[in-house]
Amino acid sequence: MKNIAVIGAGTMGNGIAHTFAQSGFKVQLIDISEASLQRGIDTISKNLDRMVAKEKITEADKTATLKNISLHTDIKEGVKSASLVVEAATENVDLKLNIFKQLDEACSADTILATNTSSISITQIGAVTSRPDKVIGMHFMNPVPIMKLVEIIRGYSTSDVVTTTIMELSKTLGKIPTEVNDYPGFVANRILMPMINESIETLYNGVAGVEEIDTVMKLGMAHPMGPLQLADFIGLDVCLSILNVMYDGFKNPKYAPCPLLVNMVRAGKLGVKSKEGFYDYSESRKAERVAKQFSK
Ligand code: NAD
Repeated sequence: MKNIAVIGAGTMGNGIAHTFAQSGFKVQLIDISEASLQRGIDTISKNLDRMVAKEKITEADKTATLKNISLHTDIKEGVKSASLVVEAATENVDLKLNIFKQLDEACSADTILATNTSSISITQIGAVTSRPDKVIGMHFMNPVPIMKLVEIIRGYSTSDVVTTTIMELSKTLGKIPTEVNDYPGFVANRILMPMINESIETLYNGVAGVEEIDTVMKLGMAHPMGPLQLADFIGLDVCLSILNVMYDGFKNPKYAPCPLLVNMVRAGKLGVKSKEGFYDYSESRKAERVAKQFSK
């Protein structure tokens, strides 16, 4: 397997392309937006610069990595010679089902189709293709070049041979793959999102302010980042959409998103990407608007 196509050049897509290219794979990075492709390759270049500055790689490694990546807006053109496609487009069921129908038509019969979805059913995605045995979840963590875990999700029909191939491939990227089954939220988000949601409920109920909640979890549980800050980094819209998938999937009220989270997303306060969430990223120091509102 030498030739990989990555669909989507956003936060995750550019990290996935970077990681494969740095390990010597030829990567076709595909996005519907030229601007996203340009932003994606600029981010990869900046991240490689940082690695060179830290002496983790050489200038020659950086040049070789960038040379391994080509940019495409035409999905058919981009995937035609790929032995593996990793889809990392926007988290939306209809959009992903549509992309997988296109991939199924455009790719050769033995190409493995992987998705980096945080929560959408691999079984549902596989079912719109003629090769559900070759559809698998490859859930990288953010930031991809740094985080070791890849959650490998087997859909109902994913074959043993495809699972083994993707587990082994993840190891060649220097990652630690972990195999899980296809149920809402898989493992990572099934455990993480209720914790984030409960932190938001704790704030909403006025038990403590933003910094206090994050401090308890950082110092008390040795988490590197508090759950509210982590939610800002993930994106509050992404957290809401994952909670909704689990709420719908299990029909269990314990996954119901906190009304404060729903309101913040409606108000466009999405965290780091909109410059405001639980913390205010538009100022040099963290001034929390919501904290003032909810602290005792
Ligand atoms: P993003 O919004 O940063 O990027 C999505 C990209 O997909 C955009 O550049 C957009 O132009 C592109 N796109 C949309 N429709 C497309 C199409 N039809 N064809 C090609 N490109 C298309 O999103 P992201 O945060 O990188 O998330 C991507 C996927 O990774 C989602 O499924 C998300 O759930 C998952 N994920 C995200 C994180 C995270 O921390 N952000 C972590 C793990 C998994």
